[in-house]
Amino acid sequence: MTTDALIAEYFASGTLQGLPQDHFIDGAFTRAVANRKMDTFDPGAARAFHSFAAGDANDIDHAVAAAKRAQRAWGRMKPSARGAILQRTAQLIRAEAGRLAVVESLDSGKTLTEAEGDVAGAARCFDYYAGAADKLQGDSFPIGADYVAFSSQEPVGVTAHIIPWNYPLSTAARGIAPALAAGCTVVAKPAEQTPLTALMLADILYRAGLPAGVCNVVTGTGIEVGSPLVAHPDVRHVTFTGSVRTGIGVMQAAAPNVTSVVLELGGKSPVVVMADANLEAAIEGILGAIYENAGQICSAGSRLVVERAVHQELVDRLATRASALKPGHGLRRPDVGALNSAAHLEKVAGYVEAAKARGIAIAAGGARTVDPQSGQGWFFQPTILDKVTPEDPVIQEEIFGPVLSVQVVDGEEEAVAAANGTSFGLVAGIYTRDFATAHRMARDIDAGQVYINEYFAGGIEVPFGGNKLSGFGREKGLEALRSYTRVKSVAAKISE
Ligand code: NAD
Repeated sequence: MTTDALIAEYFASGTLQGLPQDHFIDGAFTRAVANRKMDTFDPGAARAFHSFAAGDANDIDHAVAAAKRAQRAWGRMKPSARGAILQRTAQLIRAEAGRLAVVESLDSGKTLTEAEGDVAGAARCFDYYAGAADKLQGDSFPIGADYVAFSSQEPVGVTAHIIPWNYPLSTAARGIAPALAAGCTVVAKPAEQTPLTALMLADILYRAGLPAGVCNVVTGTGIEVGSPLVAHPDVRHVTFTGSVRTGIGVMQAAAPNVTSVVLELGGKSPVVVMADANLEAAIEGILGAIYENAGQICSAGSRLVVERAVHQELVDRLATRASALKPGHGLRRPDVGALNSAAHLEKVAGYVEAAKARGIAIAAGGARTVDPQSGQGWFFQPTILDKVTPEDPVIQEEIFGPVLSVQVVDGEEEAVAAANGTSFGLVAGIYTRDFATAHRMARDIDAGQVYINEYFAGGIEVPFGGNKLSGFGREKGLEALRSYTRVKSVAAKISE
């Protein structure tokens, strides 16, 4: 079915045929033990369009047991054979990209164009780690002629993946692909707001040749499904992507079993624009940094830190561009999609209303809106809050919506201090034509990833993750494989 036919089917019937509704466990779609369901919503229309399994600890027990049974054979399969399965997965994702993107857009509220980008990125991720599967090599150690000493990279075992609602397929792919490449098995729990594409991915993996039990997906709430998963004694590693509060709880729940964790948490990332910057490039970068996915990005550039000399011109030009962006239902390919839930819209609107009440100037947007065609949906206008002081909540707290907060600074030192002036440290953008300034700032800004003159520069090859409250551990790149492997050293005496 073409993308256009799928869109027509959705708008005519209010749903899509053939959407997954059960867990994916041990190579098959499997009903929840308690046979309970919950709804998933189309944020662009503010209505439920499908229901799916609301799992519990019994489903997690089944999924972890399946993953544990499958571990030995998968971990011992020839690495090149594992890589071939991941390569076929990438091909299948591309072959089924149209359907995956429509479902992702519907479930999350993001624009179809953004969802298509996410699907292409997921395929690329499987390609990348397919190539890495047979390159995980160990080392040898010089302890004398009478000995042989070497290390190998073993899979850690069953891994848990807790996924948020803002990038459901991409986040699933960026955790699952390296875990499988390293020879681990997987139990993934997508966010209850966006369960569908992770289930579709598990099915694709199975059809690409993944043995039953190697990748399982259990759906449901964080408390009923996420909690028993991260606390399960047979899980050896947890990759968690989500909020700081939940991340801290996950770390505590994993502690009694001494399970390792990678935490990919929130951010309040600065885009620093120096007076000598190419403003045209900076404007394009800033618009993408804060309005892509309606600002629901952990690494969104949600703070503009700008030198006074260019502040007014930059904010005026940004405000003109932001005001021209058209929100709308994701499947109609608007400029900006919906916020993911009614509760989240309330949160974003609450931040902006409180900022207004404190007297902060609104340079663009500032209000809720709806899909222009249907008059429905959970939308917020692309917004700019100008000349905000460093301690203000809209500078210090993650809003996770299309809201840019502007901080005016004088000189490099103040810019770096402002960039570092929150408890987060995920990413940072720097716009300047001065090579030395750019690299001094990259050195001095406390963030896991720094973009110079192009926000979001990089791809699956470049490690990603946060400092401070943004978490620890790195995903993407070869670095991600570290979480899924452990080093075994063997030392042998070979002569009497
Ligand atoms: P959240 O923490 O509420 O939920 C994330 C996931 O955790 C969901 O699947 C949820 O069901 C699950 N969960 C909830 N309670 C749990 C528990 N007790 N045990 C185990 N799992 C549990 O976060 P959210 O609101 O869905 O996502 C938005 C947050 O995620 C933002 O703070 C954002 O910055 C962050 N995020 C970070 C990254 C990154 O890579 N650093 C990427 C995307 C999102």
